[in-house]
Amino acid sequence: EIRIDGLVKRFGGSTVLNGIDLHLKPGERVAIIGPSGTGKSTLLRCLNFLDRPDEGRITLGDLSLDAARAHRDEILALRRRTGFVFQNYALFANKTARQNIMEGLTTVRGWPEAKAGARADAILRQIGLGDRGDSYPAGLSGGQQQRVGIGRAMALEADLMLFDEPTSALDPEWVGEVLDLIRRIAGGRQTMLIVTHEMQFAREIADRVVFMEGGRIVEQGPPDRIFGAAEDERTRAFLRRVG
Ligand code: ATP
Ligand code: MG
Repeated sequence: EIRIDGLVKRFGGSTVLNGIDLHLKPGERVAIIGPSGTGKSTLLRCLNFLDRPDEGRITLGDLSLDAARAHRDEILALRRRTGFVFQNYALFANKTARQNIMEGLTTVRGWPEAKAGARADAILRQIGLGDRGDSYPAGLSGGQQQRVGIGRAMALEADLMLFDEPTSALDPEWVGEVLDLIRRIAGGRQTMLIVTHEMQFAREIADRVVFMEGGRIVEQGPPDRIFGAAEDERTRAFLRRVG
């Protein structure tokens, strides 16, 4: 079970996350939607301390961190259990696809090269890039780069996978293959928290949709209800704008 309780994040004088409570069941897929500047990325970043939360508690199974007091070892333990897929892939430009996938295994996990390499090769086949392992990011299409980004997160077999608008930086022609890959890995044991502006995708893949605005969760529920019969006027106004 994964729990977020009372998460607060401030930047200077402004409160960007204003008390976020979210409980996720193992294997659950939750889509987060909402207007720009609402704190969606900040929420994901706080969940593995890329941004340090100011208040609240994050619990992953037997690991429970008091955000304000968490120390380095706890943060590293949390990061070992979370995978992060960034909007802009964030691959190492000077490493091949295979080396990018190995990186977390050798550094975070401390695996020997040979073992990490074997896992990377298996992942490359799963993401449909079995023959492109020696390519550098610059030699791959946007869609292929993002598949490597997803593969790198998959390699860690994290309990929680965080996706921050994984297709929004892609040319339209590459969106489909990346969504297909996420569909394929969904439904496994991993819990997924996916920030997306692809409403059709959210509707199809999510067990639950969370609508955020102004640093708060305004409304949440099954996709059919949120997209078909949202209760809050702010949710309906947002869906009218993007729909
Ligand atoms: P988008 O849909 O455009 O990606 P978002 O919901 O992901 O938006 P965030 O990126 O989380 O929004 O930003 C929420 C607010 O926090 C914004 O007002 C943003 O300017 C502010 N913010 C985010 N990161 C920082 C930072 N490092 N320093 C100061 N302010 C920040
Ligand atoms: Mg964002």
